[in-house]
Amino acid sequence: MDAQDTTEPLPPWLQAPWQVLVQRGRAGCLPTGLLVHGAAGVGKTLLARSLVQTLLCRQAAGTAAPCGVCNACRAFLGGVHPEVMTLEPEDAGKEILIAAAREAIEFLGLSGSGELRCVLIQPADALNTNAANALLKTLEEPPPGAVLILVADQPARLPATIRSRCEMVEIPTPDPDAAGAWLRGFATDSEAADEAYAAGLGRPLLAREILVDPERMKQWQTDREALTTLLRAPGVTAMASAMQRSLPESLIPRLQALLLAAQRLLVSEQVDAFGRQFPPDLLEAFARRQGPRRLAELSSQARVWQRQASRQLNPQLRLEDIALSILVR
Ligand SMILES: [Zn+2]
Repeated sequence: MDAQDTTEPLPPWLQAPWQVLVQRGRAGCLPTGLLVHGAAGVGKTLLARSLVQTLLCRQAAGTAAPCGVCNACRAFLGGVHPEVMTLEPEDAGKEILIAAAREAIEFLGLSGSGELRCVLIQPADALNTNAANALLKTLEEPPPGAVLILVADQPARLPATIRSRCEMVEIPTPDPDAAGAWLRGFATDSEAADEAYAAGLGRPLLAREILVDPERMKQWQTDREALTTLLRAPGVTAMASAMQRSLPESLIPRLQALLLAAQRLLVSEQVDAFGRQFPPDLLEAFARRQGPRRLAELSSQARVWQRQASRQLNPQLRLEDIALSILVR
């Protein structure tokens, strides 16, 4: 996580839940287990980190934002605050194992300042069963000042025993207008903001990263090129080589969005925000050629492809396979 993330103002849709939690924290009324959930890319981690930083900040009072410069803020932003531990998978997409959970439990049990001792678990749905079970006792009989903040896109994937011991806080997805207005603050023009919002599949934080990070923007442009080639339905070899430059974890969700845009076009005659990133005649010809039944089949197939995306041994071959299965019936 970028160290600057929590010193800038929070997006407007995070303000209200943040204020409620900060006030509770100041009153010493945070639950031991706080499960922050909501759609991917909506700002859950940002909210959780800002909450912790605010409560630790030596300058901020009430619901003022953390100062960003006191010793506590600097230690937090540098990832070395003695009262904070982050529990996350060793590699993205992997599980959080019991050894890591035990370290977190030990950390919470060490006597600290006695005020707040926090473990941030992100994403909490990466906890494997043993790791989750190990945390149960701490959630039931917490050491003084211990707070576990669990961040999850899919809280249903957590064991019910964990969920029932946490207080759930849902972060709502902002409507496109609110997200768009916020994004335009980072963009050179509104078209760029719209493009990033589409490329980020309606996830505002991801869209912002695409806007400000040239690497992510390049990845989006590569994916768009691959998908445009797919719409053109060239020969098998041309299709395979177009897919070669993309990565499954970024391309497959966008392929899914493209299939959905084609379905919507057939049903409502309208092009959605994602579909507008492609030449209209190509999208329409693709939608009519595939037809509604086939598009529905491919959409549900794409969900399977996505689940498999992170465990591909040969991602390029996999993408070639997927492209073929769309082109060749
Ligand atoms: Zn501070």
